[in-house]
Amino acid sequence: MSDAQKSPIVRRKSTLLYVGKVPVGGDSPITVQSMTNTNTNDVNATVSQINALEKAGADIVRVSVPTMDAAEAFRMIKEQVNVPLIADIHFDYRIALQVAKYGADCLRINPGNIGNEARIRSVVDCARDKNIPIRIGINGGSLEKDIQEKYGEPTPEALLESAMRHVDILDRLNFDMFKISVKASDVFLAVQSYRLLAAQIVQPLHLGITEAGGLRSGSVKSAIGLGMLLSEGIGDTLRVSLAADPVEEVKVGFDILKSLRIRSRGINFIACPTCSRQEFDVIKTVNELEQRLEDITLPMDVSIIGCVVNGPGEALVSTLGVAGGHNKSSFYEGGVRQKERFDNDKIIDQLESKIRARVAMMNHK
Ligand code: SF4
Repeated sequence: MSDAQKSPIVRRKSTLLYVGKVPVGGDSPITVQSMTNTNTNDVNATVSQINALEKAGADIVRVSVPTMDAAEAFRMIKEQVNVPLIADIHFDYRIALQVAKYGADCLRINPGNIGNEARIRSVVDCARDKNIPIRIGINGGSLEKDIQEKYGEPTPEALLESAMRHVDILDRLNFDMFKISVKASDVFLAVQSYRLLAAQIVQPLHLGITEAGGLRSGSVKSAIGLGMLLSEGIGDTLRVSLAADPVEEVKVGFDILKSLRIRSRGINFIACPTCSRQEFDVIKTVNELEQRLEDITLPMDVSIIGCVVNGPGEALVSTLGVAGGHNKSSFYEGGVRQKERFDNDKIIDQLESKIRARVAMMNHK
């Protein structure tokens, strides 16, 4: 796959809003979010996790603000970070008003859960005044009691009805600057709920398979669910929910977008699974280079293939590539085999320096 290849996906048209400086929806790139899992009251730990998430590529970070004390911590956190922050609030409208004052870039709060009309109106008016969007978050595990009773179990129609209740409240208050999620831990339930919602509203959709699981199983589940939706053009921003370091959520989010050629960030390694024909240690090379080159954000395809069976073919359509040979391996740049060959026992260092040189050259273009 060459870097220039565009995704064939036709994206659903959605309205555009801004979370801080980051656009969501419209024609803007699909953004990758994550959420801190530190204690928000621990300002240093939360700031340092937000910075790690930003370094990994997170466009937006969500922070839970469960108490008024946490709102004070949020103010200090907000002063120390660059990436836009979404304040995650449940029920308490006073917290929403407070974090909005402290510069929250988006409020994640369900209007139907805020309480009486006056409280709802105060939060919505505050969001309007400060020009910050609201994210409505529906979760299959916490549907309203009457909807649970009506449908018996979480169904796509139940999630849609719950979502539309909150949408209707914002509609009545003439507030359309919102995005919305209808998450479930079951892939089919989540996917069908998003499909129904996508047909009902024009606002951006925040995708996620909630409580997806640990790093491996949760990534697979998320890739399937989010992949189905993204391939249908549904989704404007996403979070991969993993019971793992949130930095992994960002990496997996980008890997999903990269796989569908929607958005690239950093090196896309094309590597063979190896077999007894391999002429150098492909797995070690890929793992080592993935770690060494984490700082590179420029999109680039690099193929690392253990022998000549597939090496030359993959190298032809990659920016840089190696094809394993006896003692020395062929090196390709721009699809053209170079005179220079790599010693198989120095291939990691040699390829790293070629990739860095190429990145420096592309950055200066
Ligand atoms: Fe084996 Fe070569 Fe295929 Fe890699 S490309 S799996 S080394 S045959």
